Amino acid sequence: MGFFSKDIKTMDDLFVHTLRDIYYAEKQILKNLPKMIDKATNRELKQGFEKHLTETEGHVTRLEQVFEMHGVEAKGVNCPAIDGILKEADEIAGEVDDERVLDAALIAAGQAVEHYEITRYGTLVAWAKELGRSDCAAVLQKNLDEEKATDKKLTDLAASRVNLQAAE
Ligand code: FE
Ligand code: FE
Repeated sequence: MGFFSKDIKTMDDLFVHTLRDIYYAEKQILKNLPKMIDKATNRELKQGFEKHLTETEGHVTRLEQVFEMHGVEAKGVNCPAIDGILKEADEIAGEVDDERVLDAALIAAGQAVEHYEITRYGTLVAWAKELGRSDCAAVLQKNLDEEKATDKKLTDLAASRVNLQAAE
């Protein structure tokens, strides 16, 4: 189902399409987080990414729950946005030599990913409610809360440690 094709006719179709977009995105993130864990030097950052890898597995499971609750097949659709964000993260990480600076770059890349997820889950929660699926909204809200908490943790980490070290 392409975004510009006419397969999306109703709000419900759009909801399902966007669920499939974030489902694909979460799976791509699952593939990429181990690389970010490997590259991170700062212990807290490494642990933070590790914790979020476990959470991300839970995000995939919750999405599968929502597909089931809504009575549609759990499958992904291409999401060029997350592909681009992850590609850029990979490219910038490849260009940074100093490991402290690399940590700062990884935090920035991680935050770009979290912000993408936050915008998608924010929209999905609102649409689920609009469609009378507050049950689905409640499950999606749990993912949203974890993305927000991760984003905040990355901000705190950047502010308190890594940026300082990079500037030394
Ligand atoms: Fe996620
Ligand atoms: Fe996330």
